[in-house]
Amino acid sequence: MAVTYTDAQEAIREAIRRLCRGFGLDYWHNCDECQAYPEDFVQAMTASGWLGALIPETYGGSGLGVLDGCLILQEINRAGGNGASCHAQMYTMAAILNHGSEAQKSKYLPRIAEGSLRLQAFGVTEPDAGSNTLAIRTFAARTADGYVINGQKIWTSRYFQSHLYLLLVRTTPLDEVTRKTDGLSLFLVDIAKAGDALKAVPIPTMLNHHTNQVFITDLHVSADDLVGEEGRGFSYIVDSLNVERLLVSSESIGDGQWFVEAASRYASERVVFGRPIGANQGVQFPIARAHININAAELMRNDAAALLDAGKPCAQETLMTKYLATESSWEAAEACMTTFGGYGVAREYHVERKWKEARLFRTAPIANNLVLAQVAQHGLGMPRSY
Ligand SMILES: Cc1cc2nc3c(=O)[nH]c(=O)nc-3n(C[C@H](O)[C@H](O)[C@H](O)COP(=O)(O)OP(=O)(O)OC[C@H]3O[C@@H](n4cnc5c(N)ncnc54)[C@H](O)[C@@H]3O)c2cc1C
Repeated sequence: MAVTYTDAQEAIREAIRRLCRGFGLDYWHNCDECQAYPEDFVQAMTASGWLGALIPETYGGSGLGVLDGCLILQEINRAGGNGASCHAQMYTMAAILNHGSEAQKSKYLPRIAEGSLRLQAFGVTEPDAGSNTLAIRTFAARTADGYVINGQKIWTSRYFQSHLYLLLVRTTPLDEVTRKTDGLSLFLVDIAKAGDALKAVPIPTMLNHHTNQVFITDLHVSADDLVGEEGRGFSYIVDSLNVERLLVSSESIGDGQWFVEAASRYASERVVFGRPIGANQGVQFPIARAHININAAELMRNDAAALLDAGKPCAQETLMTKYLATESSWEAAEACMTTFGGYGVAREYHVERKWKEARLFRTAPIANNLVLAQVAQHGLGMPRSY
């Protein structure tokens, strides 16, 4: 089955490839080596309007569909880059777009679209709750004119590269709600205004990801900073999860394509025992297998994105795409690492950087075990396992 796109989508892909040619493998290698944020790349993406792709034209964005957004990120990663550096600027705004007040939309969305305001920090995960989001304990207590928030987040990525921080907290303790999903609320926090009430501490990681612990002490926010209704925050984030998962899946698909292309090229050129290593089935089969699975993931992603763009239910399709895309990208990463032999771990060949980046998506933004649990429960009607 051929994966086909419209002329407009092909134009997007070509434009991204052109932009990425200005940020080659050495650029990404240097950022990784210095653990530097790829600011020039993100600026170029912003200036070309790509990070405002999903914001409607009324608010200064391009009003493109989710599949278009997917193709943008896929092409970045296929070119050897790392779309995770800027993907959140594309979709974190969805909470405001879908659930914010008109005042919040007109105040923030045009500035997010033009890039003068960065909203790419999202605080959900907490150290003690982990994958169990409903067990988060960061709490916003009501005051006369707003709320005061205390607690701790972990793995808040791009905090230091954001002006705004979207924060999920409890406004009613877990043991006082009827349904566990009640009593969570979303706040849009201005990081500069928060001052010392927010303290972010970077977490050193194996990959260049700019992620942090965030300690929240007596953070005063106004009622205007609440997104939507108090207590309904969980349903708002669930709403944006499908988009996030498809965009991340697209980065995995792009990574997978990069690995397959790099591995098949190298396997055809590297001569050992008097012939290209790619002439051995032990070398070529894992690459071919990964290629097949990446293609399947791309088709499944396109199907899920079409449902999402048509406003139809697609939670199962999105979860299955997330699983297949991230697992097949990892399969391709392993095949590529093996094909390169010892050179796979030499930094100058770029395989080890992409391999580290590809591994993350099996765990974040949702661990693949939890994907399987949700497919088993909601897709197959099996008993709840968590
Ligand atoms: C680099 C990085 C960036 C991140 N960025 C952000 C961010 O910007 N904002 C944010 O809020 N979060 C972020 N995260 C958090 C990410 O979403 C979580 O790491 C992820 O959801 C898993 O949670 P955990 O690490 O606490 O693992 P845990 O929940 O402790 O799980 C550990 C392991 O146990 C397995 N497991 C747990 N429960 C079950 C079960 N019931 N059945 C089977 N297996 C189970 C999991 O699959 C996993 O493999 C980031 C994480 C990383 C590593």
